[in-house]
Amino acid sequence: MPKRKLRIVKRVRNVPVLGICEGCDTQFSGDPNMGNAQSAIQEQFNSHPCKPLDAGQSAAPTARKAPEKT
Ligand SMILES: [Zn+2]
Repeated sequence: MPKRKLRIVKRVRNVPVLGICEGCDTQFSGDPNMGNAQSAIQEQFNSHPCKPLDAGQSAAPTARKAPEKT
């Protein structure tokens, strides 16, 4: 199981409103007016399909981009 970590990058009045997965850079936002922004962010984080950026970069046949000209 890959290790993933949630990092809160933005807070409003001490309430987390924007979190980011350190493993794949996916962002999760919560609404500070809802009162449960932190758990909403945590929930999104828990269920997101985490794909670490550095893994699979060299072995991703479906994610091929145009080759760079050198
Ligand atoms: Zn992730």
